This record gives sequence, structure tokens and C-alpha cells, in this order.
Amino acid sequence: MGTVSSANFIVDIAPSRFAAHIAATPLIEIDTLIPSGRRIVIVAPHPDDEVLGCGGLLAALAERNNAVLLIAVTDGEACYPLASKSMALRISKQRCAETVEALRRLRLPAIGIIRLGLPDGKLNECDTLLATRLRRHLQADDIVITTWRHDGHCDHETVGHVVATTVASVGATLIEVPIWAWHLPSAATELIPWCTARCVSLRARWQLRKAHAINAYVSQLRAPATLDIEPILSPALLSSCLQRWEMVFT
Ligand SMILES: [Zn+2]
Repeated sequence: MGTVSSANFIVDIAPSRFAAHIAATPLIEIDTLIPSGRRIVIVAPHPDDEVLGCGGLLAALAERNNAVLLIAVTDGEACYPLASKSMALRISKQRCAETVEALRRLRLPAIGIIRLGLPDGKLNECDTLLATRLRRHLQADDIVITTWRHDGHCDHETVGHVVATTVASVGATLIEVPIWAWHLPSAATELIPWCTARCVSLRARWQLRKAHAINAYVSQLRAPATLDIEPILSPALLSSCLQRWEMVFT
């Protein structure tokens, strides 16, 4: 997988085993989900989660007056476990630069980015520190978007749980987004909270900007040639992230 073509993503391939649930999920207007003037804080476990999970919504927000802050929990250095230390460092720097480019492609070039620099793949070992760091940055009026607490990746789940607890403690509003969830074993997907799920319908230009932003993550679309492994962003994952809608758990 080199790049995401607009031809691929225009085709609406719903994650098929969830088609009935998705069809029954109510739509929510962006104005209802995110009232005008509220600050949006995205808490992304890895560089790319902000785009995979809610890039379409971010493209929509770029046309509104909401302030947006990105809190990048890790720099994504452990995405290719076979990488040497020096290669991992190089990839983490590349991923951070890719985030800046992705946000530019979403027409959000000026938003603040706070990098926490916590260890990729080991967030379950520093959940208390993560909570402390988050509490410094969150405000009661914020709408905080993060990965679903049962998303099937250890870091996504740690961040989901810690953000949920921290948001509750500061009185902010929480929105969780699924990314890996569509590809979990059936037993795990029984946890999907369909009763609080809502779909945000994306306009064509927001979809296109999301695909364009995903393409900024070259490091995730193409693994280093010397490792001879598949890239992180598989065609299946990309298909589920490039729908005409984004699902949120409210
Ligand atoms: Zn991630």
C-alpha cells in the first residue's frame, strides 16, 4: 500500500460484519456534537490516530470557529518492532513531521500540538503519569476526542481509559472514536457501545482532505525496505477509516 487513492475511498465499503449495526446508528449533526465556540482537544496515542479516527471531523472543524489542540501522547517510535534504535528514532521524527503535514492538509496548520513523549507500546506502564500530564492541559469546557477504551491496541485502550477518567475529573466532555475496533475478534466487538454510537456524515471535500492527510503518513503506508514487512496501515484498516462517515461514542 503506497498511497490512498481517492478512487478507492469514494467507494463506500462499510465494515461488512457491522453493516446492520452501522445502518441503524443515528446520524448526529456536527453542530450538535460540537457546539460552536467549544475547544476541541484531540488526544492521540500515536501520530496518525488523530487523522484515522476523526480526520473528517477535523476537516469540518477547520471551516468553523472552534479552537483545536492536539495532544500527541507518543511519537510512535515502536511501530516497527524489528527496527534498530537509530531507525526507530528516525521513524519517530518522521512521524512527528508527518503529523504537521497531515494537519496542514486538513487545513489546520496553526493548531497547537503538545507532545508528551511517552513510550510507544508501553503506556500501560505510565498511566498515572499520563493522567497527571493530561490534567495540566484539559479544561472543564473542552470537548475531548480520543481512541475508544476497548479499541484493541494496548496504547489506544490505556489512553481511552485514562482520558475518560481525567475528563470526568475536570468536568469536560468525552468523545471516543474506534480505529482498530472494526478488525477485532467477534468476542471483543461485543463491547462496542452501539447505544451511544453516532455517525457523523462527511461531505465529499472533508473525505478527500482526510484521505490526503492519511497519505502524509508515508512511514505508516510503506514499511522501511530493509525490514521486509507489511506497513502498519493495511488496506483493510484504511478501508474502515475511509468511509463516508465517522463513528463516535458519546
Ligand atoms: Zn495508534
